Amino acid sequence: MGEINQNAVEKYLEENPAFAKEYFDKKLRVEVLGEIFKNSRVPVQASMSLPELTQVEESAVCLELLWSVQEEGSSAELTAHKVLQRMAQLLQADRCSMFICRSRNGTPEMASKLLDITPTSKFEDNFVVPDKEVVFPLDVGIVGWAAHTKKPLNVPDVKKNNHFSDFMDKQTGYVTKNLLAAPVVMGKEVLAVLVAVNKVNASEFSKQDEEVFTKYLNFVSVILKLHHTNYLYNIESRRSQILMWSANKVFEELTDVERQFHKALYTIRTYLNCERYSIGLLDMTKEKEFYDEWPIKLGEVEPYKGPKTPDGREVIFYKVIDYILHGKEEIKVIPTPPADHWTFVSGLPTYVAENGFICNMLNAPADEYFTFQTLTQFLGWSLLNTDTYEKMNKLENRKDIAQEMLMNHTKATPDEIKSILKFKEKLNIDSIEDCEEKQLVKILKEDLPDPQAVELYEFRFSDFPITEHELIKCGLRMFFEINVVEKFKVPVEVLTRWMYTVRKGYRAVTYHNWRHGFNVGQTMFTLLMTGRLKKYYTDLEAFAMLAAAFCHDIDHRGTNNLYQMKSTSPLARLHGSSILERHHLEYSKTLLKDESLNIFQNLNKRQYETVIHLFEVAIIATDLALYFKKRTMFQKIVDACEQMQTEEEAIKYVTIDPTKKEIIMAMMMTACDLSAITKPWEVQSQPMMDRNKKDELPKLQVGFIDFVCTFVYKEFSRFHKEITPMLNGLQNNRVEWKSLADEYDAKMKEIEEEMKKQEEGEVVVAQVAEDSGGGGVDDKKSKTCLML
Ligand SMILES: [Zn+2]
Repeated sequence: MGEINQNAVEKYLEENPAFAKEYFDKKLRVEVLGEIFKNSRVPVQASMSLPELTQVEESAVCLELLWSVQEEGSSAELTAHKVLQRMAQLLQADRCSMFICRSRNGTPEMASKLLDITPTSKFEDNFVVPDKEVVFPLDVGIVGWAAHTKKPLNVPDVKKNNHFSDFMDKQTGYVTKNLLAAPVVMGKEVLAVLVAVNKVNASEFSKQDEEVFTKYLNFVSVILKLHHTNYLYNIESRRSQILMWSANKVFEELTDVERQFHKALYTIRTYLNCERYSIGLLDMTKEKEFYDEWPIKLGEVEPYKGPKTPDGREVIFYKVIDYILHGKEEIKVIPTPPADHWTFVSGLPTYVAENGFICNMLNAPADEYFTFQTLTQFLGWSLLNTDTYEKMNKLENRKDIAQEMLMNHTKATPDEIKSILKFKEKLNIDSIEDCEEKQLVKILKEDLPDPQAVELYEFRFSDFPITEHELIKCGLRMFFEINVVEKFKVPVEVLTRWMYTVRKGYRAVTYHNWRHGFNVGQTMFTLLMTGRLKKYYTDLEAFAMLAAAFCHDIDHRGTNNLYQMKSTSPLARLHGSSILERHHLEYSKTLLKDESLNIFQNLNKRQYETVIHLFEVAIIATDLALYFKKRTMFQKIVDACEQMQTEEEAIKYVTIDPTKKEIIMAMMMTACDLSAITKPWEVQSQPMMDRNKKDELPKLQVGFIDFVCTFVYKEFSRFHKEITPMLNGLQNNRVEWKSLADEYDAKMKEIEEEMKKQEEGEVVVAQVAEDSGGGGVDDKKSKTCLML
């Protein structure tokens, strides 16, 4: 026997396992082992392989790994690293690695997570940070093959294995000779693939190594499964957090849908692990507004041919909320987003809206799962939107009921009716039911003012000398003048009650009060009769137009649409546009639902529907925001009529097309609504003077006349020369306002120069303030140029 060295002893023991077993059983006792493992649990000795370990030692290793597994706060990678270290040691492998298997956009891929682990290597050196990962598809290499087949492999010589790929070796300069690979599987899913590379002191891994490999793989399997379950659990709990949040917050306040969207999405932003996401708010309206259909009906605009939602709506994203989370967090709200907005370019939101499918975009920069999640949210919220929308509709229904209840207080009382329809006094009949309709018509007409006396047919008509009560009678007079009372069998009691109730429906606000409502009705009447626009309309249509004009601002609260938007009233966001006008319309329709107020009660169904439609168009048309949509269309009609040879031709051109009639009517409503500005200077300057704004008012009026009014009356005068008095009135008032504005400017300039000259400028300013405060204009019927 030669020199006894470590290698020789090892060799001998390995070749004589029976001897070794017996020897260690005899010589080593548990206490001795305990002494060895006292300081560090199982010290790692590079030379020690499995056959060298006793069962006691092995169980200590297992126990240690178990401790690691259950250790709190330890990451899956860290624990897996410990296991792989042991594996490298026990298998006498040169190194071990772990590749995780994941899915990106539905395509599985492998990624290096722990590389080149030796029994003594440090975790930090083996752990691969995300941006250094080597990522490859499943059809590359033995690792990919193991994941694909879900089976362990023992490859004695990689050169002879056609799945082997040397791309990793080429990168690192390492030479792989033989290896063991095995997948970690959970259900149908492959979570990872472990590899042991290059057997030390042998040309290949043995059958026994395979067993050891599989055995220790179980540890990694437990760790990864635990980790994966945790991951799924986290997603689930995030999801329920989101849902909980929605339930609590979104339904808490239903005042403003968009604000709710924003709040909710801002909160979940941390869960959406992506760079940016967007919420497209889909227009919920099923039908186009009448004024948007006009250009289509006139053939000026192509009908919509784009995608539609499953319930038949056009896919219109009226607003996008953009959340940018990369770097500096930013939220942008984009109203009427352009088609090239980044979310739309892919066509995906439209596709989702069109089909209601959850879509996953390939090559999306965001991680697969979260892209999916984002889109799920997208759909989730669009569902929520519908839900909220319905709730708000219900809310509106409730409001209707409240309105009906309120109406009982607004509805004209029998005594109020008696103050106009004097059946008791004149017929000496106690109950109105006992009166004959003919008698009632007769006594009512007797008491209605003479149209000539009050200048009902004049564009210059002024309500100043007439009491508000008397204006009700003037209103009734006009219905008789256009001959609709008898023709459409309107019971005069109902007509009186309706007219009186409309008057009561107007609040005592500045400007948008009953006097304004009446004036708009009177101008409509004058346009039809004196302006001879009646020739384009049937009696029924004229009846509806006059009634709608009286109602057009009913229950106005004195604030404008901008105020409604800014105060985020619940209906503001729901309607989106013409908020107040829609309210006036609803109010007017509610009145008609009460049979005792329904002046259209003896019409047939089709006629009634015509009336309601005209009410809608006429009242909504008073939203000045729509004026700019209709003005060109109106101008074209006027142009065309100007070219006609005869009046009959022009009448035919207009009346044959209901759209043209609607456009003219809508423009008539604007002409009526703005008519105050066309009244004789004495009439209009009085109510327009606002003490607080006296100084700026002239300038504002001039601007308003130039920007809005002139077009209306110029075109109407061109259309029908009978309407010229309105244009004349307007132009005369412009001169007056302009001179006031100039006067004010001159005064201001003077003051400025004074101030430059004098060093005690303060004295001058005080003087001016006094001057402008002493206007002495009654501000009760004051205000307003721009509030229409
Ligand atoms: Zn108005």
